[in-house]
Amino acid sequence: MKLFNSLIANTLPYVPKSLVGVVSKRYLAGEYIEDAIATVKMLNSEGAVCTVDLLGEFVTSESEIQKTIDVYKKTMTKISEENLSSSISLKPTSFGALIDRKECASNIRDMIVFAKEKNISVTIDMEDHPYTDFTLEIYNQLRKEFPDHIRTVVQAYLKRTLDDVQKLAVEGKCCLRLCKGIYNEPADIAYKDRNKINENYLQILRLMLHKGYYPGIATHDDYLVYKAFKIIEEFSLTKEDYEFQMLLGVRSELRKEILAKGHPLRIYIPFGERWYEYSLRRLKENPNIAGHIVKGFFTFGR
Ligand SMILES: Cc1cc2nc3c(=O)[nH]c(=O)nc-3n(C[C@H](O)[C@H](O)[C@H](O)COP(=O)(O)OP(=O)(O)OC[C@H]3O[C@@H](n4cnc5c(N)ncnc54)[C@H](O)[C@@H]3O)c2cc1C
Repeated sequence: MKLFNSLIANTLPYVPKSLVGVVSKRYLAGEYIEDAIATVKMLNSEGAVCTVDLLGEFVTSESEIQKTIDVYKKTMTKISEENLSSSISLKPTSFGALIDRKECASNIRDMIVFAKEKNISVTIDMEDHPYTDFTLEIYNQLRKEFPDHIRTVVQAYLKRTLDDVQKLAVEGKCCLRLCKGIYNEPADIAYKDRNKINENYLQILRLMLHKGYYPGIATHDDYLVYKAFKIIEEFSLTKEDYEFQMLLGVRSELRKEILAKGHPLRIYIPFGERWYEYSLRRLKENPNIAGHIVKGFFTFGR
């Protein structure tokens, strides 16, 4: 199956863009701010909160960084004007991490200053391992200044994560999205076995709760979601203590179930003009997603 998925991932760049678009559509709000805002409204009306992500990481020019900053600011202004329940999520490599890390950290700080004015929180997404330390450093630095407006992400497939969470735990308020991790990382630093990743995921979740931190339980895996339901009961958590998180377009029946059971849920909403590059890069990074895309070709997103 792995070989099959890799084969599909490698041949997808030759599939017509329009066809990739048909399949990617279910995972993306659209190209424009208005598309993201309409999706947030729809999901808010279903009882979910959102986080909006502008596509286009690995930015290598100052003009692109500036464009990214402008679009995020306009998006936050709209979220605030329309009184919507949504945070934003951003990636260090969209804000200059590839060019100048100091400038990147300063750009991210500016975004949080702007977000705070609009009463919106910002999650710094976690990219692949060359950015792990950098991302945690920015988070730790800015957390002191903006404890209520900054979050970041930890990945259960990384062997270091339990330790990272322990260290973060020493220093005050902490809101962390916990996901498995999407990048194809080397085996010496990342677990490859699904059961091992799940075991680590639950261990990290428990550690976060023992420390009184606010976890974003980001997964579509039934096993983890049902285990999390039990852990929430075991720790007698209230709705203010945690949230589930899911990606737009993935497992909508599970999304409904989580909401119907009364759990807080945040949906991650990617949008932007660079959807095509984003889709292809995601497939190359993690060929297993190719299986979902092919399924989508046959079911046309249903
Ligand atoms: C809100 C959110 C934010 C995230 N942020 C980050 C981040 O900052 N950094 C990072 O490295 N990763 C991030 N991820 C991705 C994450 O690390 C996983 O790669 C992804 O969520 C798949 O893992 P899973 O836990 O859903 O389990 P899996 O075992 O991969 O999936 C469980 C089931 O969900 C379904 N499924 C999963 N993904 C898809 C899909 N794309 N299309 C269709 N069905 C699917 C399948 O039925 C699968 O059997 C994020 C995920 C979420 C939900």
